[in-house]
Amino acid sequence: MKQINTIESQVRSYCRAYPVMFEKAKDHLLIDKDGKKYFDFLCGAGSLNYGHNNHILKKEIIDYLNEDGITHSLDLATRSKEDFLNSFSKYILEPRNLDYKLQFTGPTGTNAVEAAFKIARKITGRTKIISFTNGFHGVTLGALAATGNSHHRGGSGIPLNDVVFMPYDGYMGKKLNTIDYLRRLLEDNSSGVDLPAAVVLETVQGEGGINIASSKWLQSLQELCKEFGILVIVDDIQVGCGRTGSFFSFEGMGIEPDMITLSKSLSGFGLPFSLLLLKPGIDKWEPGEHNGTFRGNNMAFVTAKTAIEQYWANDDLEKQIATKSNILKHRLEEISDEFPSSDIQVRGKGMVYGIDCILEDLASEIKQKCFENGLILETCGPDDQVVKLLPPLTISESNLTKGLDILEKSIKEVMQESDFDKKLTMVTVQK
Ligand code: PLP
Repeated sequence: MKQINTIESQVRSYCRAYPVMFEKAKDHLLIDKDGKKYFDFLCGAGSLNYGHNNHILKKEIIDYLNEDGITHSLDLATRSKEDFLNSFSKYILEPRNLDYKLQFTGPTGTNAVEAAFKIARKITGRTKIISFTNGFHGVTLGALAATGNSHHRGGSGIPLNDVVFMPYDGYMGKKLNTIDYLRRLLEDNSSGVDLPAAVVLETVQGEGGINIASSKWLQSLQELCKEFGILVIVDDIQVGCGRTGSFFSFEGMGIEPDMITLSKSLSGFGLPFSLLLLKPGIDKWEPGEHNGTFRGNNMAFVTAKTAIEQYWANDDLEKQIATKSNILKHRLEEISDEFPSSDIQVRGKGMVYGIDCILEDLASEIKQKCFENGLILETCGPDDQVVKLLPPLTISESNLTKGLDILEKSIKEVMQESDFDKKLTMVTVQK
């Protein structure tokens, strides 16, 4: 760790929270240099939905390299790109009756968000984007402007312009419909809110604290946007690729976005890969107008195609996610009942779940204790007060249960060793 602690930039973060040297990883496990195994419920922040070194994907990529398959090609026509596009159309778009063009952006999620904002502004001639409270869309300047978190915003060095934040579903409590508020602002010529090019949102806010938008809210947002000619961008970078139970997080919710961003688990193997899906009428780029050296990653094309054919050609994985989602939900609810406060909330969908611990220190101590006990997970939310679980979608039910056993044991230990009981009771009383 010496070089990492002395030479790597101060900006490093996860290696501070989990200060051991990791050497190997397989499926749901990360293994450190001393051979200690950790259940990985962080999963590369949602980039490893099919686990580490998934053997099916690994074999494909090794075979591809052994055959001198192309690794880099700018955006030249390659066999691996053509094959990926075929599979994506056949197994993802066509069965869902979806019609999108695919734009390969630079390799990380934020690149896809930048591309979406740019084309939205170009074709509407408007500059503003509406984002939502607690949204997270990346840290390059355009996407950062649409990211709510003040810690990240603080690093920008320049004013973050041209994004207006509106309250997300439930932000003002259950009774207030925040779309009514947005409608009022858009209808009023004197509200001071300019007509935006687009709205951008996550259907489940991953970094923002596992906040879930209802179908009704999403539908009224889409309706409102249609009325005003505003494009809808669903950022599915963290909760797409099956995380919420279906390939796209908005499936079955009665909306069809104008643009969708995908990244993280798209390659299926942890390889950098990002995609912007655009309705054909929006694809008004000039050739090369928005480019980048690493648009499309041939190795990722290979693993992404294999992942799609392996996991999305039938509904086996979806069924398994539904079963494991039930296990997660019920177990987390049982665990949360043990806290001396009824304000502790379990929120989630599919296989992304969070326990809102109300207190930042409590969530952080649970994370730390889990790590000591062999479970890696992270915290999220405006005050990092939510313990977040992102187990691999392919984890076995028994290993999922073992990971949850570690969580329960860790929470019990934290509560026994500290005075969080008292603190929680006090917060509850004050409320
Ligand atoms: N959008 C969402 C919803 C995310 O969760 C993230 C990353 O966590 C991003 C965008 C940015 O992706 P990247 O870190 O790959 O740039």
